[in-house]
This record gives sequence, C-alpha cells and structure tokens, in this order.
Amino acid sequence: MTDEWISFAEEGDESDSAAADGWCVVVVDDDPEVHEATRFALRHVHVHGRPLYLLHMHSAEEARRVLPTLVNPAVILLDVVMETEDAGLQLVDFIRGTCKLASTRIVLRTGQPGYAPELSVFARYDINDYFTKAELTRTRLITAMTSAVKSHEQIRTIDESRRGLELIVRSSAGLLQPQALAAFAEGVLTQAKALLRGPIDGIVCAQRGSPFDANDNRLFVVGAAGALSTAICHPLSELPADSVVELISRSLRERRNLHGEKHSVLFLSTREREAAIYVETPGELNEVDRQMLEVFAANLSACFSNLQHFEEVHRLAFRDPLTGLLNRAGLLRELDGAAGRSDLRLLLADLNHFTDLNDGLGQEAGDLLLQSVGTRLRDGLGQHATVARVGADLFALVGESERLIPAVVHGLFEAPFACGELGIAMSVRTGFCDLGDCSDGLSALRRANMALKVAKGSLSEPDVGYQPAMAERTRVRLGVLSQLHRDFSDGRLELWFQPQVALANGRAEALEALLRWPDGKGGWVHPPSLFIPVAEYSGLILPIGAFVLDRSCALLAHLDSLGIGPPRVAVNVAMPQLRSADFTAMVLDTLSRHGLKGHRLELEITESIAMDEAQALRQRLNALRAEGVRIAIDDFGTGYSSLAQLRELPVDALKLDRRFVSGSAQGPDEAFAECILGLAHQLGLSTVAEGIETAEQAAVMKRLGCQIGQGYWHARPMPEQALRTWLEEHKGS
Ligand code: C2E
Ligand code: MG
Ligand code: MG
Repeated sequence: MTDEWISFAEEGDESDSAAADGWCVVVVDDDPEVHEATRFALRHVHVHGRPLYLLHMHSAEEARRVLPTLVNPAVILLDVVMETEDAGLQLVDFIRGTCKLASTRIVLRTGQPGYAPELSVFARYDINDYFTKAELTRTRLITAMTSAVKSHEQIRTIDESRRGLELIVRSSAGLLQPQALAAFAEGVLTQAKALLRGPIDGIVCAQRGSPFDANDNRLFVVGAAGALSTAICHPLSELPADSVVELISRSLRERRNLHGEKHSVLFLSTREREAAIYVETPGELNEVDRQMLEVFAANLSACFSNLQHFEEVHRLAFRDPLTGLLNRAGLLRELDGAAGRSDLRLLLADLNHFTDLNDGLGQEAGDLLLQSVGTRLRDGLGQHATVARVGADLFALVGESERLIPAVVHGLFEAPFACGELGIAMSVRTGFCDLGDCSDGLSALRRANMALKVAKGSLSEPDVGYQPAMAERTRVRLGVLSQLHRDFSDGRLELWFQPQVALANGRAEALEALLRWPDGKGGWVHPPSLFIPVAEYSGLILPIGAFVLDRSCALLAHLDSLGIGPPRVAVNVAMPQLRSADFTAMVLDTLSRHGLKGHRLELEITESIAMDEAQALRQRLNALRAEGVRIAIDDFGTGYSSLAQLRELPVDALKLDRRFVSGSAQGPDEAFAECILGLAHQLGLSTVAEGIETAEQAAVMKRLGCQIGQGYWHARPMPEQALRTWLEEHKGS
C-alpha cells in the first residue's frame, strides 16, 4: 500500500469514506500505469466539498487482505483481469458478499479496448460503470468518480436514515417513561450525529408549558443531551447560553427551522404542542445535510406527536386519576414482571368503614380521604414498595416480603388522615401473598384477594396470608354459587317457617322465615349455613333476600285472611342487603304491597353486622323503625359487640344464641344467659331464646325472665301447609 493510505490513516482513526474529511477511493489494479494515471487525474478533486483519498492495491490477493479492514469505502476502481481472467469479478463477489459493502460503488476497468462486460455482470454485481485503459482520461475519470461518490453517498444516507428511523421506532417503547422527552432528545442527538457524520455535543429540546404546572406557560427545557443536559426541566430562560435561548425562541416564534454557521434549530409542531430542538453542528451545513435535517425534523414531529399521545394514553391506561398512583392495569403490569420472585410480596389493604364515611361526609370528602391515604402510603413505603389503588377503597402494595408486613402498614394508619379541615382516623384489613409461586400478576392478585376476603369476614384476624386451601374453598364456593343461581332462578328455593312462642302462654308471637334448598329427593342440596354465606359473598343475596321478604309478607297476609295470622313475621337480613341504598324503600314497598303495617315485620340482623358500619346502618334502621318495623339482634352473645355500642343501635329485641339455651358440649351457660337477659331488660329490649329443645330449657328461660322461645321443643321449621295446621291447632293456646 502506498503513502495515500498512510496519510489517510493519520487523518482520522477510522477509514470510513465519510470520516471527517474525505472520500475513500480504492484502486485495485496490477498495472502500475493505471495507479499513476488515476492519482494524477484525481489529485485536486473534491466531491461535496471533500477531497478524495486514494488507496492503492496491486493484486486481488492484496485487496482480499485489506478490504475487510475498511469501513465503507466510497468507490473501488477495479481491474477485471489480474492474477486470473476473472480475479476482478471474483473480488466483486467478495466485496459484496463477505465484506458486506453494499453502498460502496464499483467501477470496472476492462483490459481489452472495446471489450465491455456482459450486461448481466452489471446487474448481478451492482456495478456502476466501466472503462478501458485507453479511456482513462482525466475528464472521464473525474466524471466517473464524482458520480460514483455521489451515488455512494445517496445510498448511505438512505440506508442511515432508514436505520435512524428504525432506531426511533424501536426506542419509542422506552420513550414512554416519565423521562421520555429526555430520552427523546438523546435519541435525536444520536440520530443527528449519524446524519451529519460529525461530533455534536449540544442539543436542547424546549416546549411551551411547564411539565409540572399546567398554569405555567413559559418555555421549558424538556429534553437535553451533551453539554447542556443539566438544563432539563428548567425554564428555557435559565439556560446559560443566551444565544441558544434566542434561537429556540425565534424558531418557535417564526414556526420554522433555522440553520446557522454552527447550529440548526428544528421546529416541531403537533396539534397540541410545539417544540424546538437546537442542535450544535460542527460547521455550516451544506445543502444536502440541510435537506436531510429538514426531513429528519418532519419525522421527529411525527414521533413527538406520537410520544405525547403515548404519554397520554399511557397515563390514562395505567394511572388512577384520583390519587396519581398506579391503577389495577398498572399494578398488573408491574406484577407480571415480579411474578415468580420469592422475595417479593403483594399486599392488599382495604379501608374499614369507608362506605360509611363516604355516605356520611359526602363523596368529595371521601375523595380527599383516599388521596391522603394514597399519599401516606406512597410517602411511607414508596422507596420499598410500588403503591397502587385497585378498587374504590382498596390499595395494593408490592415490595420485599421482609419489609412489607401488615404491622408496617397498620403503623402508617396510626395518625388520622387529613380530609379538608378534618382529621379522620382510618384502619385497614390486609390480605397478602408471596409472589414466589405465582405465574403471573393476575394470579397473585386473585390470591391476595382471597386472603383479604377471609380477613374481611373475620372479626379477630385483620391480616390474613394466602393459603392454598383458600383456592380450593373458592372453587367449591363457585360450584355452589352457580347451582344456587340456577335453582333460585328456576324457583326451587323454598321458605319454611318456625314459630316463636310466648313462654308465658305458648301463643305464637312470630314466625321466623328460614330458607330451604330442597334437592327434589326429600333431602337438602346444602344447609343455609353453607349457601347463605355464598349468596352474601356473591351478591345473590339481594334478589334472594327480596324474594324471602316478599314471600314472608305474602304468607302473613294470607294467614291474616284465614284468621290465624300471628302478630308478626321475622326475616333474616344479611349485610349486603343493608348496605344497598334502596333497602329501606324495598322493605316499605313490600309491606305496602301486601297491605301490612310496619309493626308486622321484624328484621333479624346478626350481632357482627350490627357493630360493623354502625353509622350507615343506623340511618337505614331508624327510617324503618319510624314506620314501626322491629329490629332484632340475632345470635346475640356470639359476636364481639360492646354494650355501649348496643345502646347506640335502634334495636327492639335480642335473640339469645342457642349456645346459652340448649348449650354447647358443656351444657347451657345459665349464668351468662341470666346476665344477658338482665341487660336486655335494663335496656328495655324484648328477648327471644333460640334453640329451646326441652321442657326444662323452656322453664329455665322463663324463670330467667325471657319472654319468647323458639326451638324444636315448641315447633320445628315447617313448610306452609304444615304451618297452617300448626297455627290452627295452637290458635287457642
Ligand atoms: P338463625 O337466623 O339463627 O336461625 C335459626 C336457626 O336455628 C335455624 O337454622 C333453625 O332451623 C335452627 N333451630 C331452630 N330451633 C332449633 C333447635 O331447637 N335446635 C337447633 N339445634 N337448631 C334450631 P337454619 O334454618 O339452618 O338457618 C341457619 C341460619 O341461616 C339462620 O340462623 C340464618 O342466619 C341463616 N338464614 C336462614 N334463612 C335465611 C334467610 O332467608 N336470609 C338470611 N339472610 N339468612 C338466613
Ligand atoms: Mg334468625
Ligand atoms: Mg339465630
């Protein structure tokens, strides 16, 4: 190789034809005369303002050694006949196939005057031009080289901008992060570098409007790379370079691209926003580069618009607008990535009594409360956990199992939460599961939810971890539910009635309506203690409860018409029914449809229900009581209510639980029964003893001052027909 190669190597550290200052032209020929002529002819030639640098190789063999080390030479002037007849053509194969030099232009020199290669050779080898030795005139050479260099440059540009676009498209997924615009600016810098083939070190992307404050309409730096990257997120006016501020402002004002000696400013416009990107360039751009940048700017505008669109869609899809936390979809995405990691845990925290507060204080206050809970969780755990809001009052936390324990979460709920002027105390129940053996986010969420349901149904255990048995229980429950749904729709559920009698004289005081699910073969599909909770859990209790109330009132009206109607009917009511806003109206409507006064109905609510969400309930129960409807607390003595709370509730009667009457394995707890009955008496409540199975138990209850008894001793629950007979028989008693 000759001195041109050496001088080229000294100029730049890469042999790219476009490296800084020149186009690389390789001459491969075994005829020294050709080298000489070429060198002489191209001595002072510049293409697009850059000189040509010649690399001389004297055999196909030498070329095979050196060519693979070159990066994209512009042109190869190639002799066809060298060591062999077709050494040159074989070298073309090598250049295209092995060296993968696609944009390098090849000009062939044929040995014989007038001997042109076949046309097929041009097509197959992508050859630009050819000439014979005799045609190696200066003009001919200059024209051939100039056009070859230009076409090389075109191919390269197209290729590069295609690659640039690919890069932009590919990086658009990454552009969705909060620092998207910064990444975008970084991407632009890389692309601009590739386009302009030069070192670029300053770039600033500015748009109108603060990224943080919707009311701040100043120009802001939303992305920057290179020397000016510290300016990101600051107002443009604070940029240390005044000239840059001025240029960006001007581009935005005049809504166009600007090109100067050492810079270009690209104006980007989308329907919603405008931005300008300042790029520092190595020197004044020539016409071709300018055009390239203009096209690039147009492409960027499209990307920029997509970016904003993506950001908006992304925000809407994965963020909860109220708290700014991730929403369910956002959480699931996060969980999908974390599933399978045994060191991580998902914990769901459900606010206790939130519905109550929301009803009592109004939705606006409820929203404020949720926001302060969200903020507290994020501030308290944000470094260690991802926080999301996945339901109205349901928050989810994902973090290290060791740190994310219920006690830590409860700790965050010790201080009251700001809600306007008020400070409101809140507490949570939690359900959690480890992500180790979860296959994806959804299965983790299901598991934590199952655990939470258990926690919510328990009075003593506010925090429950997932156990595989829960999944089995859920499966069974789902089976029960679908069958119950079907049979209820088909009218297969029956209502049986059990009399409550006055212990003083044995007269029927009331009938308690009890659901039955007959299997059609004389037995039961499931007992109420099993299927009622399933119906409650699923909401099916709402239509079923309405059915029970309607049938009970219908029966009482019918019995009245027969002259054997007892004073009232007692109907069991579940929590979901009491929670439903139209419960009061539904009850009153049913009564009036059957022509019954309010005092003919007693609603039995369980003690645990009565104490939970007491405030919201009180309003509904009071409205019913105002119409004469009686309220009884069922299974009294099994729950955890405090006497003080009991006093607060609008209640007419206590139903003493069976365990204090017919007893547990140890026999009836008489002392306890006496105490409860005394208490009821003091509070002015009437009392019903449940589960009286013997004459002796009836006598004890009567002695202790209980007014009404219910149990197998007096009568078992019965279907309508049997009940009518029983009432006829006991009419006079
Ligand atoms: P509950 O309201 O406490 O009803 C009394 C239960 O005690 C009934 O069980 C009744 O058959 C049973 N029982 C009555 N006398 C005796 C006795 O002397 N000895 C014994 N060992 N048991 C007696 P049942 O019918 O199996 O109902 C169980 C629970 O299912 C009910 O307890 C109630 O909480 C619920 N339930 C039944 N029907 C309905 C309904 O229509 N709606 C709602 N929400 N719950 C219902
Ligand atoms: Mg009951
Ligand atoms: Mg009971």
